[in-house]
Amino acid sequence: MTFVYQRRYRGPARAVLLDWAGTTMDFGCVAPAVVFVKVFERAGVPITMQEARAPMGAHKRVHIQKITELESVRSRWRAAHGRPPDDGDVTRMFADFVPLQLDCLSEYSQLIPGTLDVIAALRARGMKIGSTTGYLREMMAINLRDAKQQGYEPDATVCASDVPAGRPYPFMCLQNVITLQVSPVEACIKIDDTVPGVEEGLNAGMWTIGLAISGNEVGLSLAEWNALSASEQQPRRERAYDRLRMAGAHHVVDTIADVLPCIDDIEARLARGERP
Ligand SMILES: [Mg+2]
Repeated sequence: MTFVYQRRYRGPARAVLLDWAGTTMDFGCVAPAVVFVKVFERAGVPITMQEARAPMGAHKRVHIQKITELESVRSRWRAAHGRPPDDGDVTRMFADFVPLQLDCLSEYSQLIPGTLDVIAALRARGMKIGSTTGYLREMMAINLRDAKQQGYEPDATVCASDVPAGRPYPFMCLQNVITLQVSPVEACIKIDDTVPGVEEGLNAGMWTIGLAISGNEVGLSLAEWNALSASEQQPRRERAYDRLRMAGAHHVVDTIADVLPCIDDIEARLARGERP
């Protein structure tokens, strides 16, 4: 046969899947970072904020394991304990992590400016709102309660602990597809502040939008970010945009407040028969 015929979805976007920390709440994704620092301090091997943030987006146990795999941390661990960190250390630190994180989540659960307006606009367009997170279910109970009190209630929330593997695997996104009953996957848009979160959406066959300023890539609270001069902000902004673009995000913007033009563009691309 000389010609091949391809089927393309040309309908509207049907769902947006939002990350939590650094995307809709906790500007700067501060809550997990401070607890990882505390946990390693208790284990006798203090880490920097940068080391604590490096694997952000992963399941929190995997995150601790990935910190122990950083060469800088391994060498300090060997110096402190006379041996490299092992799986038992990761298990102990994760057990330490859970109650510490539960204790402080509410301190950082304020919604990121623009979240409610954007959600309302997306709902007005008939889109469903799903969500994924590296937090465990018991942590999300706190975030869901705090979000609801501020007026944000997604239609679905899937935690890393609900699926066989967290990011960058696509399973949390695909569970949202099932729960929300939206189809096809290219009608879904994943929005996230981390590289593994963008990869999660791409692996699920979805469009992706990276958020550069409100999340882990800059890693500053809103007050800290606003306190920087434009010349101090610029290199941080450029680095964050580059990293999320290099991860394959279809669009990168500052925060959730800026995503609506990206949704318009994605819908125009869908209408042309383009795929993520
Ligand atoms: Mg995040």
